Amino acid sequence: MDNMLAKDSFNRPIISLRISITSRCNVKCLYCHHDGVLPQESEMTADEIFKIVQIAKNLGIGKIRLSGGEPLIRSDIVDIIEKISSLNFKDLSITTNGTLMEHYAQDLVNAGLKRVNISLDTLNPETYRYITNRDFLESAKRGIKAASKAGLDPVKVNMVVMKDINHDEIWDMFQFCKDNGAVLQLIELLKTESCPDADFIDEYHYKMDSLEEELAYMADEVKIRAFMQDRKKYFVDDGEIEIVKPMDNTEFCKNCTRLRITPDGKIKPCLLRNDNLVDIIGAVREGRDDKELERIFIHAIENRKPYYLIS
Ligand code: SAM
Repeated sequence: MDNMLAKDSFNRPIISLRISITSRCNVKCLYCHHDGVLPQESEMTADEIFKIVQIAKNLGIGKIRLSGGEPLIRSDIVDIIEKISSLNFKDLSITTNGTLMEHYAQDLVNAGLKRVNISLDTLNPETYRYITNRDFLESAKRGIKAASKAGLDPVKVNMVVMKDINHDEIWDMFQFCKDNGAVLQLIELLKTESCPDADFIDEYHYKMDSLEEELAYMADEVKIRAFMQDRKKYFVDDGEIEIVKPMDNTEFCKNCTRLRITPDGKIKPCLLRNDNLVDIIGAVREGRDDKELERIFIHAIENRKPYYLIS
């Protein structure tokens, strides 16, 4: 671990930055927490995003992920990736619903994108329509294939697991991922203040404990991803399944090394909170120098606090 990395007062180093580059999306998922961001109109320009990642780079942050909303909906997405890529980050990735991926995969790779997470919760057209309110299942599947073919590595498929909606599809999804060179990432349904319907989350929340026991029994190998919220990775039958369980998880928070940026240019220290945002775009637009922008970042980092704290 690099000693130069900025750390918060809970001794958590900041390794990655997740930038929500738009609130706009071409699907409408029932459960979507919009990366913890309350929907907003305003967006940063490609140059403003570049300035912010430059400051992040100065502070030793090595990993950049773009998210949203749907990041591929921005017509300048290839330009944004190209600009960020010129700074040679250790890791540069996107989280997308994949529905536009087939049109962009090769250009994104050429621009410097290294890997991708594609959200797909089901292989059943009716369930897909129910969850997303759209009929884009086939384009999302083609997007996953195109991402693998273009050389993005790894391609991870994000599946939010919901009781009685898609929990019985986990093994079909695993097979689909294996067939297409992708890793399956199972995500626990999470409630945040930015979710459209809190009752939906309570009703369909699926506890993954017994699944994890089953996976631990079946797996040839289990790895724990240190500095990635201690997520567990199971290697089963030449495939890979990763589990993301943030709800009420003190270990998840204790090992969180991520800072976020909202589409309107605020530093967001925690996915689950919006009461400690720190404005950075104002200072960027006023042309403040790098030292001052770094100080704003450090102020946001110093005020980070684990949402679920060991009492
Ligand atoms: N539009 C992009 C996409 O679909 O991947 C990026 C934004 S989306 C908010 C990022 C990720 O958050 C997706 O994998 C999505 O499934 C996940 N997500 C959204 N709401 C969630 C919730 N309430 N619980 C767990 N995961 C959620």
